[in-house]
Amino acid sequence: MKVVPVACLKDNYAWLIVADDDTLWFVDPGEAEPALYAARGKGLPITGVLLTHHHADHVGGVEGIREAYPNVKVYGPAADAARLPPLDVALEPGRFSFAGMSAEMRAIPAHTKGHVAYIVGNHLFCGDTLFSGGCGRLFEGTPDDLRVALYVTLADLPDETVVCCGHEYTLDNLRFARRLLPDDDAMKIREGHARALRAAGRPTVPTLLGEERRTNIFLRATRPEVVSAIGFGPNTSLTNVLSALRRMKDNFRG
Ligand SMILES: [Zn+2]
Repeated sequence: MKVVPVACLKDNYAWLIVADDDTLWFVDPGEAEPALYAARGKGLPITGVLLTHHHADHVGGVEGIREAYPNVKVYGPAADAARLPPLDVALEPGRFSFAGMSAEMRAIPAHTKGHVAYIVGNHLFCGDTLFSGGCGRLFEGTPDDLRVALYVTLADLPDETVVCCGHEYTLDNLRFARRLLPDDDAMKIREGHARALRAAGRPTVPTLLGEERRTNIFLRATRPEVVSAIGFGPNTSLTNVLSALRRMKDNFRG
């Protein structure tokens, strides 16, 4: 299996999966044209689409893909089917298979109530709940939903997991985190690396979950230096720390 980010709209990424059986799949095609262009480049039809959540910048390309490839199969969470484009395969959380591969869908409601992640081999497709260097806004979920998603539901995934998220937000996320932890060497190095990638016109994603655990402030929210950086005492609950961090990020203007 090969996985590549495909830039869509202003700063979205759809993810192209080239499966070992030579079928093409897209996660969250926010726009049809870049997906169709990528498929034409491979000389293969698009076999299926996996959707993480209902926002237009993640599902907007489904209709155009279906027009070009009427046999495409659209997969998504059954629980949010009413807000998604028509699903051919409505999934419950748990294991499923596509392209001859075993995969897993997990509910990570935070950014939206019906948000899910897909785990395919060592890849995690996490939409807008977990970002490179940050996390998504809580449009529908609560800070406690975010705690469960990041610290319970995804906690068993190994550090080598390849994180494939929905937007190019790495630099903005690291700028925010470094405002709180200006002396953190790991974050400083990562910001320099991300800056160089962007200057070269390259994506900063995918990243590795271990790198996120080291340098993503939302995955380090149990650590004393983060808790004290936002002015809280050592006995503050993780939910309250995440809530404060998310609110600060919402109001952050680089
Ligand atoms: Zn979204």
